[in-house]
Formats: sequence, structure tokens, C-alpha cells
Amino acid sequence: MLAQLLAGLLLLQQTSPVSVVDVALDPGHSRADVGAAGNGLREYQLTLDLANRVRARLEAQNLKVRLTREDDQPLTPLLNPGADDDIQAEQEARIAAGGPARIFVSLHFNGGPSALRGTETYYNPERAPDAASTDAALATALQQDVVSALATEMGYQAVDRGVKSDLLAGKPYGHFFSLRGPEPSALVENLFLSNPSDATALHDDATLDALADGCAQGILDYFAAAGS
Ligand SMILES: [Zn+2]
Repeated sequence: MLAQLLAGLLLLQQTSPVSVVDVALDPGHSRADVGAAGNGLREYQLTLDLANRVRARLEAQNLKVRLTREDDQPLTPLLNPGADDDIQAEQEARIAAGGPARIFVSLHFNGGPSALRGTETYYNPERAPDAASTDAALATALQQDVVSALATEMGYQAVDRGVKSDLLAGKPYGHFFSLRGPEPSALVENLFLSNPSDATALHDDATLDALADGCAQGILDYFAAAGS
């Protein structure tokens, strides 16, 4: 009888579901796929730094947060980080690692020709067609609050590149695979590491705090507008 009870308890422990968190935060990239780099800055390091700052702010507001990675390692072997299949596998592992959650927010920094600068936020209008406004609302809140925080806290006028459909980026999806999970989701490209002005701002630690304030506020504004 006791053995049966213990076996039952063990089974319960093994099958008990992972708790639902309010926010899955995905620090984009890893040491296997380092992402953008420029002006002494590396994307995969900045995204984890930023994610930890956002988590602290959200937890201070009594929200439950789960990061998709806590260190520099990828979640999958990612032997060929440029291959679509490997990218998809890694991004699907990120979705699984973050969930279950009420929303999924992926944090990135941008790279490109050095003249390009500013902040843009992506969402996937195909994720759930009848709920596309949910994802768009999350992306809009994040975009507005990040640009606003940079201006008010740092006096930095980031170029507001707006909210964008990730379908505009074309297929295959690359890191936009992370926007194909079950939860409302958005991906913030915070600033361009390849732009001298954005990079100079990012070398000031206070800019990362401003970005974290903006991301956290965007999430809070989204939940407030959603009535929860
Ligand atoms: Zn990225």
C-alpha cells in the first residue's frame, strides 16, 4: 500500500505540468549563432543582459517570468547555425523552453549598413489570424514604450522604425520562427549595433536600463489594455 502510494506520488511529480508564467522572455541568439556585432558590441551578450534587466522589473511588479536561456549556450546542437532547419529547431526549442506562458517576447539587437539606426518591433500576423490584433497590440506597446524610454530617460532620439509584419522579412523565417508558437508574441529589435550613434548610446549602461524600462512598460501596458 505504501509502495503504491509512493509510486503514485512519484508519477504525480513526473507528470505535473510546468507552471504557466506571465512572460516568456527570449534573449536572442547564443554563442553558437552570435547575431549582430559592431562597435565592440555583440548581440547574444546584450540580449541576455537586457533580458535579465527586464525580468527584474517585471518580477518587481509581481509577474512571473521565464527566460528561454540563462547562459550563452544554444538549446539545440545548432551545428550549422546558418541552415534553415537548424535555425527552426533552435527557435522551436526556445518556444518550448519559455512556455507555457501568457505572452512570448523575443529580444534582439539589429545589424546592417552603418547608416541604419533605430528601433523596430515585429509580429506574425499569421500566428492566429483571429487574434492578430493581440500580437499587433503587444508589438505596438513594446515599440512605443522602448522609443519613449530612450527619449525621456536618455534624451536619445532613436529612429522609430515602427511595428512591422514579420512576413515582410520574407521566408524562410530565420529568427521569426520564434513568433510561431502558441502565445501572443513579438520580437523587439532594440537598436543597431552597426550604427555609430546607436552603439555609442549602448556603451552607456544606463541605455540598457532605459531599454529594460521600455520593454517592461510595454508588457505592462499590454496586460493593462487586455484587462488583466
Ligand atoms: Zn537578432
